[in-house]
Amino acid sequence: GFRRRARVGVAWVGVAGLGCAGAPMSGLGLEGTQELDERYLMRTYKRAPVDFVRGEGALLWDADGREYLDFLTGISVSSVGHCNPSVVAAISDQAGRLLHVSNLFYTEQMARLAQRLSDSSLGGRVFFSNSGTEAVECAIKIARKHAHLRGLVGAPEIVSFEGDFHGRSYGALAATPGMARNEALGPMLPGFRSVPRNDAEALRAAVGPSTAAVMLEPIQGEAGIFPTSEEALLAAREACDEVGALLVLDEIQTGLGRTGSLWAYEQTPVRPDVITSAKALGGGLPIGACITSPAAAEVLEPGDHGSTFAGAPVATAAALAVLDVIDEPVLLRGVREKGAALREGLAALDGVREVRGRGLMIGVGLDDGIEAAAVGADLLGRGLVVNVPRPDTIRLLPPLVVDSAQIERAVGLIGESLVG
Ligand code: PLP
Repeated sequence: GFRRRARVGVAWVGVAGLGCAGAPMSGLGLEGTQELDERYLMRTYKRAPVDFVRGEGALLWDADGREYLDFLTGISVSSVGHCNPSVVAAISDQAGRLLHVSNLFYTEQMARLAQRLSDSSLGGRVFFSNSGTEAVECAIKIARKHAHLRGLVGAPEIVSFEGDFHGRSYGALAATPGMARNEALGPMLPGFRSVPRNDAEALRAAVGPSTAAVMLEPIQGEAGIFPTSEEALLAAREACDEVGALLVLDEIQTGLGRTGSLWAYEQTPVRPDVITSAKALGGGLPIGACITSPAAAEVLEPGDHGSTFAGAPVATAAALAVLDVIDEPVLLRGVREKGAALREGLAALDGVREVRGRGLMIGVGLDDGIEAAAVGADLLGRGLVVNVPRPDTIRLLPPLVVDSAQIERAVGLIGESLVG
């Protein structure tokens, strides 16, 4: 409540300068850290040459004390701002009480979080996971079992759009057409197909008696911020209803206020049967959720699914604090207004071809001949953190609590970078 927040607010000011956990810094510096990373970490990531040591709100600091404006937030994770005081308080409170207990027992915060997620969306049941990918795995299991329960004999199919991203485990990977073509990782899980993005006719044609689910992102995030059209969503809903398949919307990136409503589907004419969530849910701690409508709520039964860590006390306590911040009409209106201001500012810049997205989920398409990768690197040098999902696009996912001055500063920096 208010008292706890006020108390932590003071502590928050008190520890400024030490980092959000007040943790001592390692002192290796960027080069020392890079050396270790080079030697010991698998080369699955190309990292930018910065080691961050502290965050607060929309700001980050590196080991040299340089300040950055974070318009990426860990790819839409730190939506309530870095080290949001009420989230930090919920985490430290819970960490001092109980870190872990098996899913063979009850914990109040897990039950309360499930209630909040269900009541705020589809009204069915929730399965917690430790990541977005795992939330998608749960959705795939539900879809396949649901198809068997409706009497489908043979192999169930899941249909997605080209450009969709659902994760990197073998199930989620198979539903991610761009990456599922990597033959070196094969063979892929069978039963997945894709049609061109927003091609409603192709989608209708791909859905048939074998379809278990259509799984789509309301706005494709990793592809570079491409909204899924209303027409395509309506076609998906109708086609699913005709054959008894489930419509799964992957709200891992779009959900939790990112687009200006708690869930992106609220701004569309369709209601899905299942949604997946993760990223911003834990305020920085790993937690995901698969949420069903009542109709799909009873599909999974004891033994069908599980996870040791999922729904653990600290992560669920953090998520409850995150929802306290995000699930507020004032904050959500702010996202819509600030998003509109940001998009308007960006669209007026020289070098910007188009601005895509909704709320504070924004893709900036650059003019031909401008390399987004170079712009992204230049912006990092100027103290603005963004991401480059494709060669002609920079992606902006600022914290939902970003202020107007920070938006102006970001637009200014992008403008300077594009002319310079
Ligand atoms: N689905 C979508 C739409 C995503 O954006 C992501 C992550 O970028 C995932 C799934 C996978 O989530 P995670 O990386 O937490 O496993």
